[in-house]
Amino acid sequence: MLGNALRWMNRSLFQVSVLNTTMCNAGCPYCCSAGILNQPKGEFTLEEWRKISEKLPHFPWLTISGGEPFTKRDVKETVSLFIEGNKVEYASIITNGYYSDRIVPAAKELAQRYPDTRIGISISVDDLGERHDEVRRVKGNFERILKTFHALKEAQSELPNLSLKFNTVVTVFNYQRIDEIMAGIRALDPDMHTMNFIRRTWDSGEVKFPPEEELPGIFDKISRYYDTYGARAYTDEEGGLMAVKKQLSRLVDFNRSRVSLQRQYIQLIPETLKQKTQVIPCYAYDLSLFIYPKGDVAFCDILKPFANIKDFDYDYGKLMQSEVAKKTAAFIHNKGCWCYSPCVQYMNLVHNPKTVFRAAKYLVSS
Ligand code: SF4
Repeated sequence: MLGNALRWMNRSLFQVSVLNTTMCNAGCPYCCSAGILNQPKGEFTLEEWRKISEKLPHFPWLTISGGEPFTKRDVKETVSLFIEGNKVEYASIITNGYYSDRIVPAAKELAQRYPDTRIGISISVDDLGERHDEVRRVKGNFERILKTFHALKEAQSELPNLSLKFNTVVTVFNYQRIDEIMAGIRALDPDMHTMNFIRRTWDSGEVKFPPEEELPGIFDKISRYYDTYGARAYTDEEGGLMAVKKQLSRLVDFNRSRVSLQRQYIQLIPETLKQKTQVIPCYAYDLSLFIYPKGDVAFCDILKPFANIKDFDYDYGKLMQSEVAKKTAAFIHNKGCWCYSPCVQYMNLVHNPKTVFRAAKYLVSS
């Protein structure tokens, strides 16, 4: 992380989030994309994604989401064109894990084809067993998740650049069960399991934020849970040169860097809720671009899209020169908005000198 943080400090485009489809087989009551789901007419073709890739600069982080990305059969091709065209270093696909027969071959082939790129599969899981299926409103989803995960886990021994993560959205429905959920997922031995919180702005009336008074205890539990991932690979300390080598490897280890970041993110949420402002400056306008399935663009997943990239010939450079982009950037820069959305706050943390310093301390001392 530290080496990358220094390289990334210049605040150029860091993450492009491609929402490749509106289609989804699930019915989560807190879906970020609820208003645009299952309306495929006008979704971008692979050729249109290629046009966008051609005009984008190099950027290190690609996220593919939807809808459910694997309802489309060209996920692999979409990821490939950004890896090849934009020198992506980490490509993360966020999925509900249902389509095992598409996810597993696509992930394996991408990891084989691009050994220098980390291919991340992030599986959404909001509870265990049938409880998860009830929340997601998909019968048998949890069973499919296990099938997908175990097949990928087996493939990982031959594909070290394949990264397997779970993500849970904490809501009023599951906050009382987070001990069981964390233990159940930990037993599967993924590379990471992140716990994010339902976005307050999207409270639907049906799914709510956990009660305020419960939050300190929840944050504390999650921080301690994250440590179990960071420490895992480093329990057999040895002396001499090996110790020095391990100490150095701590500073560049991807998983531990990720843990240090997750811990800082968890601490940022209560502070943001208390201050109701950007606790650390948001650089979404420099670092991030969300591209929706039909070309609408936004700097983050909270603010509404401010333009459609088709109106700028699919050209990121032209888009960013536009008055509307500059006005939106100024609004963010002047703290016109605030949030704890993980999608952008992780990036803000990576680009914040204080965070990098704290991460260094954690990496050396934990
Ligand atoms: S503070 Fe939140 S809402 Fe505002 S631009 Fe950044 S990520 Fe978006």
